[in-house]
Amino acid sequence: MSTRTLGLSDELYDYLMRVSVREGDLLACLREETQALPHGRMQISPEQGQFMRLLVGLMGARRGIEIGTFTGYSALCIAQGMGDMGELVCCDTSEEWTQVARRYWREAGVDHRLRLELGPGIDTLNRLLAEGEAGRFDFAFIDADKQNYPAYYERCYELLHPGGIIAIDNTLWGGAVADESNQEPSTRAIRRFNEAVHRDERVEMSLLPIGDGLTLARRKI
Ligand code: CA
Repeated sequence: MSTRTLGLSDELYDYLMRVSVREGDLLACLREETQALPHGRMQISPEQGQFMRLLVGLMGARRGIEIGTFTGYSALCIAQGMGDMGELVCCDTSEEWTQVARRYWREAGVDHRLRLELGPGIDTLNRLLAEGEAGRFDFAFIDADKQNYPAYYERCYELLHPGGIIAIDNTLWGGAVADESNQEPSTRAIRRFNEAVHRDERVEMSLLPIGDGLTLARRKI
């Protein structure tokens, strides 16, 4: 028994994977193909993907936006969780990575529900706001360049209706956030961001120690 969150040994992590994760062949294949790429470590973990799928299903989310799509694993999990009525806007700057994503989305039969926007995420978010989409989204997932997290967060907050949730990835940043000797720009950016969300009274929030740290911030009703 423990009154605090457990650290996971390799054995306990393997056990968790065995009795929790139901990844399926297509997602497993996408994960393996992505891991072989030079930036393969940017991919979310399978238990996190499954959790986000469950989360958007619980919320009954129908309209989502993702900043940082990479090869499409998280988007596929979110799309599956939202079901046939769901639509996800996917922002990324890489044609190369998102070609992998498109291939798997087609194979999963969800490509018609995912709209890929190639270009800087800030531009796409600004355009959505200019088009009158404020307050019309249920869910946002932020997983892109860490220095821009505050800018993505503010825009996603505006795009969500009250009760909508922003999920933000990598908020424990491999543990570096707690190591004061680590003053890398991305580490400092995540520390500042975490402190700002913690203080943000417009949301209810929780930082979950799943994957590399996943913060959920729910726009207050
Ligand atoms: Ca990430």
